Parts: sequence; structure tokens; C-alpha cells
Amino acid sequence: MTKKISTGLIQQLQAAVGPAGWSCDAEVLAPLLLDQRGRYQGVTPILLRPACTEEVSKVLRICHQADIAVVPQGGNTSLVGGSVPDEAGNQVLLSLSRMNRIRDLSIADFTLTAEAGCILASLQDAAEAENLLFPLSLAAEGSCQIGGNLSTNAGGTQVLRYGNARDLVLGLEVVFANGEIWNGLRALRKDNAGYDLKQLFLGSEGTLGIITAAVLKLFPRPNHTETALVVVPDAEAAMALLRACRAEVGEAVTRFEYMDRASMELVLCQIPDIRNPFAEVHDHYVLLELTASHGGEALARGLETVLEQSLGKGRVIDAVIAQSGRQARDFWNIREGIPEAQRKDGAGLKQDVSVPLSRLPEFLARARPAVAAAFPEALIVAFGHLGDGNLHFNLNQPHGMDAESFRARGPEIHRLIYDIAVEMEGSFAAEHGVGRLKREELRRYRPAVEVELMAKLKSTLDPRGILNPGKVV
Ligand code: FAD
Ligand code: ZN
Repeated sequence: MTKKISTGLIQQLQAAVGPAGWSCDAEVLAPLLLDQRGRYQGVTPILLRPACTEEVSKVLRICHQADIAVVPQGGNTSLVGGSVPDEAGNQVLLSLSRMNRIRDLSIADFTLTAEAGCILASLQDAAEAENLLFPLSLAAEGSCQIGGNLSTNAGGTQVLRYGNARDLVLGLEVVFANGEIWNGLRALRKDNAGYDLKQLFLGSEGTLGIITAAVLKLFPRPNHTETALVVVPDAEAAMALLRACRAEVGEAVTRFEYMDRASMELVLCQIPDIRNPFAEVHDHYVLLELTASHGGEALARGLETVLEQSLGKGRVIDAVIAQSGRQARDFWNIREGIPEAQRKDGAGLKQDVSVPLSRLPEFLARARPAVAAAFPEALIVAFGHLGDGNLHFNLNQPHGMDAESFRARGPEIHRLIYDIAVEMEGSFAAEHGVGRLKREELRRYRPAVEVELMAKLKSTLDPRGILNPGKVV
């Protein structure tokens, strides 16, 4: 059990990080203590902002000795309550935001070594400046941090081609619960010397160690992009289109996103300056992007071939191929505008589930009527990363119902959707992690042997339970 923080201990922590490395100012703290969805409001006596790995180590050594809980925070965009302290006021908030140096960018190794507090977009920019690509890309990239991305194994819109955050890491530097520093910043593409320890920390949401830096993979930068917004008759046709694209242009298929009618209608209604690329609104859309480093004309031809053939087979109803970068951006603004449009429209119940690709149409065919039957007044808003089998199957508040009564239906609706996904060998937490929000679900849906092993790992790496307690396990 972690303890209360004494004044003496606060002074020790302040000394460990120096005058620029802490704050107790309520105004500074306020935005960092609220989970972005507004569901969790934490309390802390102190925010620590260490400037280097050694300072993180000092902080953890002090907290470990005194049994004080530490909550690491990146950009606070993960939406499951993982990055904010609890309400009791005895947990230290550890922000990595001052550790935002790029330590190295090696063109010869195709690697970038970055500190945990680097904003994701700044790493993309650094790679671009060398005509290289760091492919992790998500709508929160202007504010989320690489340490947070790695701790949640973030996905984003290019998983289809480049994998999740986990797949982009060669090495890690981690500070353990007792303050010990593990320098695993190896830039090796192949290394089979024992267990792959970095994997433990990737996706562990700050419960096993504090990630302070990482060696990340860089890729050749594609210089040809084809983007198309496609109307399909149903999810089955969308998946057939994915297979047809892959058969035609192979690994060039980089993004493959889905939007339903409600998604499009909400964006058109709630987000200014968004234009409907078609004459009417349709039931199912795919937004796809192909990229390649060479053979731009072949890529364009490939896309046209696939769309024409799919039209012929009735698997595509209509399609617009972006004629400029600007038009492609317009299409992406529709897709990326959905969360904001949902927010503007009212309260939401949000799910990030995944199923095997082959079962996505079946998932939609079952979840939609089941949810509609359970809650006919609510608006279903389904969109997401179709190419990864990962959907946001959300509900929006019926107009006329108050947000409170709507949210009260949450547990029942979540359960309904998770049950369907898990029955189909899917996941109840495909994207945002477990945090505080889905601990019950972890116990409910994962085999006991798996949950027990997680608990054993936790108690081995963090025997006093000071790292982000109350989250995940
Ligand atoms: P935080 O929210 O600050 O922290 C996340 C968790 O990691 C917390 O448990 C925290 O305690 C822990 N943590 C943070 N930093 C460290 C560290 N250095 N060491 C150890 N633990 C740490 N996610 C996706 O996967 N795919 C998407 O497409 C996607 N799109 C999004 C779009 C929007 C608009 C928003 C708001 C979120 C989206 N997310 C998505 C979720 C979110 O952006 C990611 O989970 C992101 O990786 C979180 O990064 P962060 O820096 O904000 O982490
Ligand atoms: Zn998503």
C-alpha cells in the first residue's frame, strides 16, 4: 500500500529535480489532473518535471523508499484515466514533458533516438527533414508524447503497413520502480540474446517502469501518394476492396479507414468548412491511401484498376480519387473530424474494439442490430481502422435525453459490444489501453492464467506497487 506524502518528502522531491522541475501551482496542475474525456479528476500535491533520466531515477528512489505512488504522464491524451492521479491526493504526478530532446538521428542506422517527452509530431518532422519517415501517425500527434505512445502501444492510421508503436522500437531506456536505470538503447535489427525485455514496458501504461528514451525505426519516405474516398455497399465489400488493393499494389496499401453514414452526417453538420465530396450521403465509406517510393504512375494506375474492377463487381458504388494534396487533406479532415463532431453533438459512449479482419463484417452485422435493439434512441457512430480490424463502435446521446441518463446506460452497452467482440476472438481494448476504465473488463475477458501472470510481473518489477497503482492490473 502506498502512503501519504509528508512535507519533508515533498522537499526532498523538489531538491531532486531543482527549481525548474516542479510545481504546486493549482493553475499549472489543473489541466494535467483532468482526463481528456472529463471522467476522471485527480488530485496531487506536486507535479514533477524532471529534465533527465538521472532526475527520474532520483525521484523514483525517493518514492520507492517512502512507498509513494507515482503517476507518469505524457500528453494526457489516452482517454482511459491512466495518466491522471486518483482523488485521494497522495500520488505524485511525473510529467516527462521536459525530457524532449532528440538524442540522435542516424541515417546510417535508419534510427532516431528520442527522449520520452518528445511530441510525436516533432519526431515525424525530424525524420522528414532527412527525407525519412517515422510512420506512427494519429490525430493526437500534435500533443501526445512518444513515451505515452510507447506505454500505450499506440496504433494510428498506418498500422496496416508499419505496425503498432511496439513494432517501431529497437531499444528502450527505462527507470525501474526502485530508481535503477536500464539502458537498453540498442539499435539492433536482430538480437536474440535472451528475453526481449523491452516488450514488457511497451503497452504497460506506466505500471512496470518509466520509459525515458527509445531507439525508433525510420523508413524510406514514400514520395507518391494516392488517396481515394470510396462508397461501398457494405462492410463485406469494404474488406473485399482491401484484399483487391493488396493483390494489385501490395504493401503500398498504407491506410484503410472506415466511416458509416452517421460519421459523415455528424462531420458535415458539426465541423465548419467540410464539404461532402459526393452528391448525397451514403451508408458506408472507405478512405484509403496508397504510398510508394517509386513508380507513381503505376500506383495511380493500380488504384484506378482496382476501383474500376470493384465497380464492375458491384463492390464499389462510387469513388473520388484526390487530385491534389489539398483534396487528400480534405478527405482526411472528414475522417479525423469524427471525434470532434461527436463531442459537439453531445455525450458519447465510446468503444475501441478489434476482431480478426475476416470477422469484421460479421461484427458489424451483429453489433449494430444488438445495440439498436438495446438502445433504439441512441445514434450509432461506427468508424475506424478497418485495415487493422479495429473499430470505434460509438453511441451518441439521443437529442432530448440528458447526458447523465445517457451515460448511465454505459456499463450495459459496453458489455453488450465487448461480449460480441470477444466472442469473435476480438479485443475489448484495441487502442486506448486499460487504464482505470477497463480493469474489470481485463479480469472478465482475459483468461485467469493471463491476468495472474500480469499480476506476477507487476509484483516482480514493482514490489511495492508505487508505479501507477490502480491502473491495468
Ligand atoms: P498519456 O495519456 O499521457 O499516458 C498514457 C499512459 O501511459 C498512462 O497510463 C501514463 O501513465 C503512461 N505513460 C505516459 N508516459 C509514460 C512514460 N514515459 N513511461 C511510462 N508510462 C508512461 N491511440 C491509438 O492507439 N490510435 C489512434 O489512432 C489514436 N487516436 C487518437 C486520437 C485522438 C484525437 C486522441 C485524443 C487520442 C487518440 N489515441 C489513439 C489515444 C492516445 O493518443 C494514445 O494512447 C497516445 O499514445 C497517448 O500518448 P500520451 O503521451 O498522451 O500518453
Ligand atoms: Zn482510433
